[in-house]
Amino acid sequence: MPAKADKLVTLIPGDGIGPECIESARRIIDATGVGIVWEERPAGESVFKRGIPSGVPPETIESIRKTRCVLKGPLGTPVGYGEKSANVTLRKLFETFANIRPVRELPGIKTPYSGRNIDLVVVRENVEDLYAGIEHMQTPGVAQCLKLISRKGCEKIVRLAFELARSEGRKSVACATKSNIMKLTEGMLKRTFEEIAKEYPDIQSWHIIVDNCAHQLVKKPEQFDIIVTTNMNGDILSDLTSALIGGLGFAPSANLGNEVAIFEAVHGTAPKYAGKNVINPTAVILSGVMMLRYLGEFEAASKIENAILVTLEEGKHKTGDVVGYDSGLATSTTAYTEAIINNLGRTPKTISTRAYKELKIPRLPSDPVLVRPSSRRLVGADIFLESGLMPDKLGPALEKLAEGTALKLKMISNRGTQVYPDKGTMIDCVDHYRCRFIARNASGDLTDDDIFALLRRIAAEHRWVHVEKLPEFNGEPGFTKAQGED
Ligand code: NAP
Repeated sequence: MPAKADKLVTLIPGDGIGPECIESARRIIDATGVGIVWEERPAGESVFKRGIPSGVPPETIESIRKTRCVLKGPLGTPVGYGEKSANVTLRKLFETFANIRPVRELPGIKTPYSGRNIDLVVVRENVEDLYAGIEHMQTPGVAQCLKLISRKGCEKIVRLAFELARSEGRKSVACATKSNIMKLTEGMLKRTFEEIAKEYPDIQSWHIIVDNCAHQLVKKPEQFDIIVTTNMNGDILSDLTSALIGGLGFAPSANLGNEVAIFEAVHGTAPKYAGKNVINPTAVILSGVMMLRYLGEFEAASKIENAILVTLEEGKHKTGDVVGYDSGLATSTTAYTEAIINNLGRTPKTISTRAYKELKIPRLPSDPVLVRPSSRRLVGADIFLESGLMPDKLGPALEKLAEGTALKLKMISNRGTQVYPDKGTMIDCVDHYRCRFIARNASGDLTDDDIFALLRRIAAEHRWVHVEKLPEFNGEPGFTKAQGED
């Protein structure tokens, strides 16, 4: 990649309310005199309509490669053209692996939580998990989405969460996972977190199951400082946390990677408000504040943050999402922007900004291999079948087919629960079976040919869908058991 051009920022106005929010943020940033040079580029709906299915055209990619820094409005994901979200595409194209979503109680914004001093950050892994979007129809009636979690991805996001705590003077990092159910994927984040936490003894660390995290966020949100979590958990938790402090109009975010950073509101295009000059631009303005800190412009960042806080504190200018669009009290987007510009240079009376230090974004070796086991062994294979047979017919048929091969049938499961051998359970089967075959010689190491030989026999009589090898790394199984499997 070319070196980052100083103070050059790619500006993507986006769709729906995007252009109004972006114009507001750009005017305020320019009014500080910080001297950002904007390079405006398209993405989203207008690009889908040009027939570019990614929603991100080459001129935008070229600009980001040069500027390495983006302030963007929300992008719509139209149904019918454009198969993938242009937002997710942008985040993934430039490996912005961390999504930072801070929320803080704001003066003059009344919520059921007012007075509780909510001030927390959700640090969401941004490129892996179910959002990799690797989906396949397994049978005409059964769909699958792969949840890919890597040790490298976990290590980067965990280190970033701890570095963020240090740069913002925060005391604790909670890791929210569903590792009690998804022991290998969600569990990888938990294990990595517990290991890396030892390198940050100055920061308190704890693990919380993600569903309880949602419960605790509603019950006692002030107990949290930083929450680090996987992509989908973070998406859901961060919409929840934005509601705690007044809604999506106030929730900014940063997508950070080693090469590129993209700053945007958490909210979407809110199409019903587009072009009406009524929406709340604060989330995008605060995203601009995060961008200025990323660029090392701490003074301009605090100046804008303070001006927003003064404006809210004085309470003369509030947008429709805060006071009601039909209340007759709502300030327009442009008047709200002007009020903030007029307040640049003033400091709020009831709230202060944090002392921010430069955030060190962790950089791991670019070698794709991060974990090298000292031993590995192939102990079996899960062969997935599309079949209309009931388990009591399918099981004996597969046992017969495996006779004389290096593998034997251990069990069959349906959507993760063992259905053969029958354990007296009551499962409403669908036409998608996972058939677990293991080595007849328990201490042996199977070969690919052993699996091909079995698969060829099965394929002659059944419709196989896919195969998962069952590996052992360092003597530990690299797969989980089915529900009910011994
Ligand atoms: P949304 O655009 O975030 O809007 C949901 C609701 O949030 C709005 O109807 C409005 O609530 C409130 N809201 C959002 N932003 C606001 C603001 N700046 N000021 C005041 N109120 C605001 O979510 P959506 O309707 O689910 O999604 C619409 C489109 O945006 C979809 O195409 C989606 O894919 C896209 N999207 C893009 C991004 C992104 O670019 N990063 C993120 C999310 C969604 P009330 O109706 O209660 O007034």
